[in-house]
Amino acid sequence: METNISKTLFEKAKKVIPGGVNSPVRACRSVGCDPVFITRAEQATLEDADGNQYLDFVGSWGPMILGHSHPDIVAAVTKAAESGTSFGAPTPLEIDLAEMVTEAVPSIEKVRFVNSGTEATMSAVRLARGYTGKNVVVKFDGCYHGHADSFLVKAGSGVITLGIPGSPGVPEDIVRNTVSIPYNSLEILEKTLRDTALDIACVIVEPVAGNMGCVPPSPDFLSSLRKLTKELGIVLIFDEVITGFRLSYGGAQEFYNITPDLTCLGKIIGGGLPVGAYGGKAEIMNNIAPDGPVYQAGTLSGNPLAMAAGLAALKLLQAPGFYKELNEKSAEFADRLSGTAAQVGIPVTLNRVGSVMTGFFTDEKVYDFDSAMKADADRYGQHYRQMLSQGIYMAPSQFEVAFISAAQRKEDLDRAIKMTEWSFKKLLEK
Ligand SMILES: *Cc1c(COP(=O)(O)O)cnc(C)c1O
Repeated sequence: METNISKTLFEKAKKVIPGGVNSPVRACRSVGCDPVFITRAEQATLEDADGNQYLDFVGSWGPMILGHSHPDIVAAVTKAAESGTSFGAPTPLEIDLAEMVTEAVPSIEKVRFVNSGTEATMSAVRLARGYTGKNVVVKFDGCYHGHADSFLVKAGSGVITLGIPGSPGVPEDIVRNTVSIPYNSLEILEKTLRDTALDIACVIVEPVAGNMGCVPPSPDFLSSLRKLTKELGIVLIFDEVITGFRLSYGGAQEFYNITPDLTCLGKIIGGGLPVGAYGGKAEIMNNIAPDGPVYQAGTLSGNPLAMAAGLAALKLLQAPGFYKELNEKSAEFADRLSGTAAQVGIPVTLNRVGSVMTGFFTDEKVYDFDSAMKADADRYGQHYRQMLSQGIYMAPSQFEVAFISAAQRKEDLDRAIKMTEWSFKKLLEK
């Protein structure tokens, strides 16, 4: 497989863009190769600048649950563009999408649209602080909530794989108000939340962790979290930027039947365009400007192209049986991957929830950040390079998830299994 044009593009990009990329993991450093530059995509296939085709398991890191260039979404965006691309004024499309979101996720009585997941989580935390008059945010090690200052403490794959502890440029004064504790540890959770020396405004959690690889919540984790925060008057924020409209139409909160106070959305909700959203109880949301004193704004928020794309995507996701089919297809694929690993003799712990999964190169259980870190990232790097050479496009880090989309056909997944078997066998050669 020739990637000469991508190599030339990468050299050019590095001169004018830090690291040649606009988001760090795209540089592929943790898997030891250069990125390929993508020029087009359709359904489950990506094409790079050299004309190579890849079966896509990244799905733009989550949004492309329907595959690429879905004709309904392309048509909706095109139609919206013909009427103007931004007005800085309210539009009917925003109401339509807000109504769809509040219907899909009953805990969201009111919703505010922003332009990214980062903006959603950052704003939700500001709101929780403004509402409670308290400062401390509790998060979980290995969970990623975007790159706002207060979250860059033990913050998941992008930060982990670069080996940056938090990040320079984030003042200690800000991080002092962030407490990060292990995921899935009920004992530490209860002790932390009951610590009266802490002035806790909110807990923010990925209901299924997706940024240290896929780490599902243990059976009691989310329900205990809900019970404790309710008892203690702490705002519970579900960061459903990945899980929203992914695990089920109502997100992880429907999937696990737990109702948070605030929810952050992103990725799928924009149908592939830049959209984020945060919402929840009206009583809390009414504190946002202009109704209340907590300020949050955006020149391009509620952008008509983005709203049109989101609306088209959500309509498609309402198709009867959509999630059942996607989740069953993903379960079968995960079983076959585990079977292949066992048969070849490569230790793999496969974690999966719905259509999100990670095969960790370890024979130990993965239930939190420390156990995830036991996975063999170098082995993953080799596997990644081998798979890429055969036209399989996976996440360029051991600590990310694979996303299954509705566009992947049976023959695509068959081919992925075949290539995995070949690659696993090659891992054992030396
Ligand atoms: C991707 C992600 C974010 C950040 O969203 P961006 O659109 O990249 O800013 C926040 N939380 C979670 C759980 C994510 O996976």
